[in-house]
Amino acid sequence: MLEQEYLRPETLSEAVMLKDKYGKDARILAGGTDLIINLRDNMISCKYIIDIKKVPEMREISYDQNSGLSVGGAVTLNEMMKNEEVKSKYPILVESSKTLANSLLRNRATMLGNICNASPAGDMIPSALVLEGSVEVLSNKGARNIPLKHFFLGVKKNAIFDNEIAVRIIFPRFDGTGAYLKKSRIKGHDLAQIGVAGMLKNDGKLMLAIAAAAPTPLFFDNLGNFDKRNLGDENIIKNIIEKVMKNIHPISDQRASKEYRIAMAEYLIGEVLQKISKEV
Ligand SMILES: Cc1cc2nc3c(=O)[nH]c(=O)nc-3n(C[C@H](O)[C@H](O)[C@H](O)COP(=O)(O)OP(=O)(O)OC[C@H]3O[C@@H](n4cnc5c(N)ncnc54)[C@H](O)[C@@H]3O)c2cc1C
Repeated sequence: MLEQEYLRPETLSEAVMLKDKYGKDARILAGGTDLIINLRDNMISCKYIIDIKKVPEMREISYDQNSGLSVGGAVTLNEMMKNEEVKSKYPILVESSKTLANSLLRNRATMLGNICNASPAGDMIPSALVLEGSVEVLSNKGARNIPLKHFFLGVKKNAIFDNEIAVRIIFPRFDGTGAYLKKSRIKGHDLAQIGVAGMLKNDGKLMLAIAAAAPTPLFFDNLGNFDKRNLGDENIIKNIIEKVMKNIHPISDQRASKEYRIAMAEYLIGEVLQKISKEV
């Protein structure tokens, strides 16, 4: 039985005040698809649940040429996937959302919930990393911005302080070609055995991010510059795979063996690079 006090602030300042008052005794509830299960299974505990769905800022999704895309903490994945700016300008977010569970679950699950949950296997994380996203957090001391490459501190540990709430995730203007591919045991109901996102920016910079290959999602932003037409070249792919594989340390668990993860990471990196090279 869940024994938490349920709180439902209607303004951002009220939500921040509650988090400041209760600190680590309070957990934020967005869609609840991780939180409620983790509480039910005694994987986490807390005295208060702060539901952010009534806070107007948390429901906002907006795009601006200069500042890019902003997705509030209570925007569901289905809402994000239907947004015209996301569909046309950030298709990799739609692609990765499609791999997360099923449409019913995506009616509740949020982008920021997936990020804040900080599972090494979270499906939205690799794409968010290669899009060079950042999380805006707020406390009664003010706002700060945490780039995602510094956000993941360990298995289900993130860089948000106990008195802070994540308000939105921000992605700079997208200028490139991206792809996300996932391998899982069951389509639609399982976390990734391996997930790989790739991004080739229009200036030639290549980035890759990998889920479920280490205690935190991995991000590679120093792979060099490439021409899209050559990215499908066998030798180029081989070199990139060698560079990445030196840094991945998967474990064996109920979803896959370490050896399978290594083989699948190599395979999916190749597939992602091929896919990017073929995009027009
Ligand atoms: C049947 C099922 C299938 C699933 N399949 C997948 C899958 O295929 N891929 C996948 O990646 N995940 C999967 N999940 C996990 C989950 O649905 C996702 O991680 C989802 O995106 C979490 O979003 P949420 O809004 O429900 O988060 P919540 O459960 O509300 O929150 C998750 C965590 O983040 C914290 N949090 C949330 N919002 C904030 C905020 N604004 N500020 C600070 N902290 C915050 C919460 O306190 C909690 O600790 C599945 C879950 C279920 C139940």
